[in-house]
Amino acid sequence: MKNIVELSDEALMQIVLNGLEAFIVRHDHVKRSGIEMHGHLLGHYTQMTRKRKIQVTHFSCDTSATMMPAYVSWKNESDLLKRSLVDGFGLCYLGQIHSHPYLNSDWTTVADARRIGAEFSDVDIETGQATLQECHARYGDEWHLEMVATFYHTKNAIFVKQYDELKPEFSIGNVRCFLRADVYEVMDDGDIKRDYAIIRSPFLENGREKQIDIGRVGLKPGRKYTLHRLHNGEAI
Ligand SMILES: [Zn+2]
Repeated sequence: MKNIVELSDEALMQIVLNGLEAFIVRHDHVKRSGIEMHGHLLGHYTQMTRKRKIQVTHFSCDTSATMMPAYVSWKNESDLLKRSLVDGFGLCYLGQIHSHPYLNSDWTTVADARRIGAEFSDVDIETGQATLQECHARYGDEWHLEMVATFYHTKNAIFVKQYDELKPEFSIGNVRCFLRADVYEVMDDGDIKRDYAIIRSPFLENGREKQIDIGRVGLKPGRKYTLHRLHNGEAI
């Protein structure tokens, strides 16, 4: 089955807004910047014999999640509530997304961040399988979309030239961002199969992220793990 995720400009914007808020703004319950966020992916889908087209039109941030620097945990209650709610708005619950926030010291090179940091971890894969198993038993779901958005604070702001539909990469100021999507599917024998999904984003394919100006993000003086925004070298 070929899986194609079409990410609307609105959904991408919402993922970037909440992902960067969790990444840059220090939240009161933690001592450092860079916490993981979690949210739900909503929209529509069409399924053909060999192809599944998943249109993510909206993203809803999970405000009940416990957002920490190295993990995020969530309550099934939230997913259950949103399933019922979006149905009334004519949308489907498609799956979920979480973020991987990395400060500059977390990876030596952008290549490592891209190859390892921007991928699903072993725990993510176990969670994706367990989530579909549970949703299959509870609601009869046959498949489930999982996405990860990675934010990596780099020294230099460099725009990414080529759009990669398997792992779209883009820069917002000096924060390098990556997206990944996998679809978990229940097979005829009851096993769960994981497969990558192609990501299409008109916004990123047209390089429109280059118009976003958030200045630069830097470590606060004397602080190893706290970020703030800079404009002409001054904090804003
Ligand atoms: Zn993860």
